[in-house]
Amino acid sequence: MTFEQLNLINPILKALQEEGYTSPTPIQEQSIPIVLNGKDLLGCAQTGTGKTAAFSIPILQKLYKSEKNKGIKALVLTPTRELAIQIDDSFKAYGRFTGIHHTVIFGGVPQKPQTDTLRRGVDILIATPGRLLDLINQGFISLKTLEFFVLDEADRMLDMGFIHDIKRILPMLPKKRQTLFFSATMPPEIAKLANTILFQPEKVEVAPVSSTVDAIEQSVYFVDKNGKKDLLRFLLKDPKIESVLVFTRTKHGADKLAKLLEKDGIEAAAIHGNKSQNARQRALTSFKDHTLRVLIATDIAARGIDVDQLSHVINYELPNVPETYVHRIGRTGRAGHEGVAIAFCESEELPYLKDIQKLIGIKIPVVENHPFISSEVTSAIEEKKVVMKVQAKENKAYRGSKSNGDFWRRQKTTQNKDKK
Ligand code: AMP
Repeated sequence: MTFEQLNLINPILKALQEEGYTSPTPIQEQSIPIVLNGKDLLGCAQTGTGKTAAFSIPILQKLYKSEKNKGIKALVLTPTRELAIQIDDSFKAYGRFTGIHHTVIFGGVPQKPQTDTLRRGVDILIATPGRLLDLINQGFISLKTLEFFVLDEADRMLDMGFIHDIKRILPMLPKKRQTLFFSATMPPEIAKLANTILFQPEKVEVAPVSSTVDAIEQSVYFVDKNGKKDLLRFLLKDPKIESVLVFTRTKHGADKLAKLLEKDGIEAAAIHGNKSQNARQRALTSFKDHTLRVLIATDIAARGIDVDQLSHVINYELPNVPETYVHRIGRTGRAGHEGVAIAFCESEELPYLKDIQKLIGIKIPVVENHPFISSEVTSAIEEKKVVMKVQAKENKAYRGSKSNGDFWRRQKTTQNKDKK
């Protein structure tokens, strides 16, 4: 299946090509036609399956083809600031040739830049529930013109206590609208919520992303925040690390790290959204042809990076969304190559490690014999401040139905064939 076969318009096809996507993921293959057809959708899928594109692509296409009226036409509600930013970045990437305006709002930051953008007019709004209600109550946002409503990560909304906010937002939405509802799991309360807001929905389900990680050799190093750079330098002395993608949480962190390594004579480049297209492309090209050994990236910048024989992935900082970990490490160990994924974990990141282990169903082996081991982390574990138990799945990576893992494998094989 190709994106062309999904009847996508040229501005979107062009953007997907630039992203380096060659074919739709299973959730995209199933969802895009349903949304283009105007039907409501109930999607059982988690982050890492390509679900963001599964809803953002058809929304962009429908808005591109519709009359250009004023007002917000699509609202995407999502539980966390990180997810909100990721979704906004996806709209930016896939919609870059459509001229459709989008913005993202979330709490914990001043509202002025957000309200300024809203005043200039946006077609698509991505929001976390609290800030959305806040700005509605202050009269900055009206949802009367809405045509599309996406509720993302509904089960996590419930876990995080956002369900009341959502119930307050729902009556403000026009009755006539298209609704897309995504959740990784379907506990009864979520199923009930889905029933009340969807109209004769089509159902789509894909396997958890955790099924893709079985081939990768994983380990975790407990290290203090300040010891991470030394640990990285130390590990990079190992020639077995032929090419390594190092993930940091922030653009600033990526830059800082690249400069530090350069100072030590280790050639490294950082890529992220603030870099010019040329600089990014240069770094990527030399990384792909193996003249550059160390590439430091943020999650967003790493999208679409596809490197043959990437031997190692290092999580310099652990992501707070566990699926992101799976997606990061999935960049190694592809197409039959052996992959190694190393995680650095400081004491504040222990809860993230716990979530990751819960998702993948294995306890990641701890490397203890290294010079930068953190007594703070080990004692935090010993003192049982953090319970690191993994729900026993026979210490084996969880294997769901293979459909999603198969996609990424197939994807790689096709790309290799294309290159030949
Ligand atoms: P999501 O589940 O939406 O968070 O997407 C997971 C990751 O897959 C993101 O980094 C996307 O950029 C990437 N992705 C989504 N769709 C495709 C595709 N069709 N081909 C290759 N990568 C994709």
